[in-house]
Amino acid sequence: MRKLKSFILLSLISFHSIVFAQVPDSAIVNAIVKEANENSQLEKLAHELMDGIGPRLVGTPKMKKAHEWAVAKYQSWGIPARNEKWGEWRGWERGITHIDMVSPWVKTLEGTQLAWSPSTGAKGVTAETIILPDVADSSAFRQWLPNAKGKFIMISMAQPTGRPDYNWEEFAEKESFEKMKRQRSEANDAWRQRLRKTGLNSRDLALALENAGAAGIIASNWSNGFGVNKIFGANTKKIPTIDLSLEDYGLVYRLTESGNKPRLTVHAESKELGMVPTFNTIAEIKGTQKPGEFVMLSAHFDSWDGGTGATDNGTGTLVMMEAMRILSKIYPNPARTILVGHWGSEEQGLNGSRAFVEDHPEIVSNIQALFNQDNGTGRVVNLSGQGFLHAYDYLGRWLAKVPASIRTQIETRFPGTPGGGGSDYASFVAAGVPAFSLSSTSWAYGSYTWHTNRDTYDKIVFDDVRSNAILAAILVYMACEDPNKTPRDKAVLPVNSRTGEPGTWPAMRPPTRKGGVN
Ligand SMILES: [Zn+2]
Repeated sequence: MRKLKSFILLSLISFHSIVFAQVPDSAIVNAIVKEANENSQLEKLAHELMDGIGPRLVGTPKMKKAHEWAVAKYQSWGIPARNEKWGEWRGWERGITHIDMVSPWVKTLEGTQLAWSPSTGAKGVTAETIILPDVADSSAFRQWLPNAKGKFIMISMAQPTGRPDYNWEEFAEKESFEKMKRQRSEANDAWRQRLRKTGLNSRDLALALENAGAAGIIASNWSNGFGVNKIFGANTKKIPTIDLSLEDYGLVYRLTESGNKPRLTVHAESKELGMVPTFNTIAEIKGTQKPGEFVMLSAHFDSWDGGTGATDNGTGTLVMMEAMRILSKIYPNPARTILVGHWGSEEQGLNGSRAFVEDHPEIVSNIQALFNQDNGTGRVVNLSGQGFLHAYDYLGRWLAKVPASIRTQIETRFPGTPGGGGSDYASFVAAGVPAFSLSSTSWAYGSYTWHTNRDTYDKIVFDDVRSNAILAAILVYMACEDPNKTPRDKAVLPVNSRTGEPGTWPAMRPPTRKGGVN
């Protein structure tokens, strides 16, 4: 039976271009599902990308290595691929971070330098900590500034609890939970006031402290879960900026507040690499009947670098790579051309995809449909028509061929409203391209993995990613075979409830082509 089946499949593939019209949809769909389930490359790809290469911050050598890896991987599957330069960025390479409290007692602290933090050099920096003071106004802050000299300045509020709310909800007395929330929101308001009274935004505050001779800046950007912090970029140009875990930040903060004068030694090494080129990876399976029309898969390739970018957007990347691999094997002679875009620098403002839209008008005006995924490892559960009037017709037709176990979980919204940002599909929607977001179930994405130090391989839910690869491959197959070109008519958008003005389609915005400078 097994042999017979594979013989039939082989025949379908071999004579595909000749007898295609007679091949029922279901044979290709079944073959896609079978390949995804029985020959999945997801675990291998995830290990190579997340563990082997690691995080993919724009302008870093790892980002470049990832682009080279992706091209080599596509070529190994017989899919032509290339890296397209679209701009340049400040080059930086993360080195070790090692942080110790050396007084009043010794403890190695959990923390990391923020992206683009200046290096301390191998010897590190040892200094006392002080807390950003609560001053009356900006002139009082200027008078205080000389006190920053030679000190590590703690610029974040100490969280009153390291337990996430769901944990309080489960175990606390109701009054006790309410009291904690009230106190925490008062503390948050007071800290916001404290920052506001310096008269400086966060970027200028960092520079003012640096110019006053501070030894470094210490922050803690808790992400409302156990052990999880968000790790973004440093604003300093000469002194290190580090993030400490909630627990260690609280410890040092309380010791500082109680007059114990803690001293920290911070080793935060990094390299400045000058301006470096930035890329998108594009791969292509040429169409046989309408090669000038395109069905596109899309996912950003870059990440923040506190973790390894596993769910933002390693999993979106895996979905699109695996779908391309499966399609090239099961459906190697598509009616329309299949393209995939692995975008650089989404995190700094959709830069790679905006550049692609600007640089390739001939492709953009002939995209049949684009599918982007970028909100974590979960199964796709939402699909909006993005304000395209006829999206219901064609997406409905294409989805009808998706296995019921996958399809019935997806809640659709038609015509929906056009997304103005959030991920790369928006770059295309703004250009009037029927571009859609394959939106996942959360798996606590917002608190636990999105831009955090815990966005790592172990958070990937491979069964869900596999289901998404099947969905993406089938949607692409159906979009390629659809006899009609998708219409681009836009729905009349609802009145904006805030402004009372009629809704308007999001405008195209230019990419940042030279980033990380100034
Ligand atoms: Zn993302």
